[in-house]
Amino acid sequence: MSKSATPPILRFAPSPTGLLHVGNARTALYNALYARRAGGTFILRYDDTDLARSTAAFADAIAEDLAWLGLTPDRVERQSDRTARYDAAVERLKAVGRLYPAYETEDELERKRVSRRLRGLPPIYDRAALQLTLEERARLEAEGRVPHWRFKLDGRRVAWDDLVRGEQGVDTAALSDPVLVRADGSYLYTLTSVVDDIEMGVTHVIRGEDHVTNTGVQIEIIEALGAVAPAFGHHNLLTLPNGEGLSKRLGHLSLRALREAGEEALAVAALAVLTGTSLAVEPAASLDELAGWIDLSKISRAPARFDPNDLAALTAATLHGLPYAAVAERLAALGVGGGEAFWLAVRGNLGRLAEAAAWWRVVDGAIAPAAAPDDAAFLQEAAGLLPPAPWDASTYQAWIAAVKPASGRAGRALFHPLRLALTGAESGPELKALLPLIGPEKARARLLGETA
Ligand code: GLU
Repeated sequence: MSKSATPPILRFAPSPTGLLHVGNARTALYNALYARRAGGTFILRYDDTDLARSTAAFADAIAEDLAWLGLTPDRVERQSDRTARYDAAVERLKAVGRLYPAYETEDELERKRVSRRLRGLPPIYDRAALQLTLEERARLEAEGRVPHWRFKLDGRRVAWDDLVRGEQGVDTAALSDPVLVRADGSYLYTLTSVVDDIEMGVTHVIRGEDHVTNTGVQIEIIEALGAVAPAFGHHNLLTLPNGEGLSKRLGHLSLRALREAGEEALAVAALAVLTGTSLAVEPAASLDELAGWIDLSKISRAPARFDPNDLAALTAATLHGLPYAAVAERLAALGVGGGEAFWLAVRGNLGRLAEAAAWWRVVDGAIAPAAAPDDAAFLQEAAGLLPPAPWDASTYQAWIAAVKPASGRAGRALFHPLRLALTGAESGPELKALLPLIGPEKARARLLGETA
C-alpha cells in the first residue's frame, strides 16, 4: 500500500475557520485510516496562517470532532508556531531565483485580468514584475509600495501518479505565478503547506479534488526547495443529492450538529468514506473494519452524492451491530445498566443510542399499565404460569409453552397482550431477551395490572 517499506506519514490540515462537516470528515478519515492500516503516523495540522479568520475555539472544536469520530492524531502542529521555517524557505526560494517581488495593487491586477479577457487571453498574471529593473523597483518602493512575492512557475506539465485518479498532469504555463508572501509579510497556504509536508516527512497527501491544480504548483515548489514530492491522491467531493457542495455554512451537516442529533460516529464515518466509491455504503463495527474496506482506487471520479436522510438509517444499522464494549461507557453515561445482556437484547430496536434509556426504564423502572381490560383474566392466568426463578434465556419459551395450551390463545391474541402488559409498548425487543431482565417480581406485578 505504501510506496516504501517505511511506515507512511499522513496529515489532515484543516483551517480552524469553521466547524468540520461530513465532507471534511471524508478527507480526515482517508488520511487517518490509511495511516492506521499501515501502522503509520497521522498528523493533525492546523493551517492557521490566516490569523484573522482562525480561532482557538474552532481548533478545539476540530480536535473534539475528530475525537468523536475516533481519530486521535499522533502529532498536532500549528502553522502559526512555525513562522521561522517559512522564513527560511522563502529565503531559499529567493536565493534560487524562484521568488520575485511584485507591486501591483488588487485594483491593478483586476484591470489586467479584465483587459486580458477582452483580448481573449487567459486571465493569468502577465509577469510584468519580472521585467522590472532594480531602479524601477527602488522607485516603486520609494513611492511607498510594499511588494508581495510570487513563485516563478516553470511553465511545464507537472505530472504525478495520483493515488485516486491515476496519471494526472497540470500545465503550469496556464497558471498565474502564485503569491506565496503577502505584502504584509504573511504567508499563503500554498507555501506553508509545502514546507510542512517536507519537514514533517509527509509521504502521502490525500485531499479533495479541488486541490488538483494546487498540486501541480506545489510539486514545483517542493522541487524548487530541493525535496521530493510525496504521493498525492485527490478524492471526489461529497455533494448533496441536488449536486450542491457542502460548505461550512451547512451547519446541520457539521460533525457537531450530527453528534448532537444523535447520529453514530461510525455511521457518519462509513457514509463519509464509502459514498462515491464502488463499495456499498454499509455499517461498520469499528474504524479498523472501515479502514480495511477503504481502497483509494475504488473512489469514483464522479461527485460523491449522498442524501443526509440516509444517515438515520445508517446510524440505526450501525447500532444494531455494535458490540457491547463499543458502547459500554456511553450507556453508563446515560444511566443505562444491564450490561451486555441488556445491550444485546435492545440494540436491534434502537434508532439512536439514547433510546436505550427508555428500554432500560422498562427493565429497571416502573411502567404505566397498558393492558386492555378485556385481557385481565388471560394475563392473570399467564402470571400464574410464570416459571420459577432463576430465569434465563429459555424461560420465555417455557412460559409460552405453558400459557398457549392453558389459554387456548395463539398468534397475536397470545403475544400482543403479554408484550403490552410486560413492556407498556406495542412493539420492541424480543420478549425472550427482555423477560429475564425484567425478572419475576416485576413481570408478575405487571401481568396482574399493578404498577411496576
Ligand atoms: N487547509 C487546506 C484545506 O483545508 C489543506 C489542504 C491540504 O490538504 O493541503 O483545504
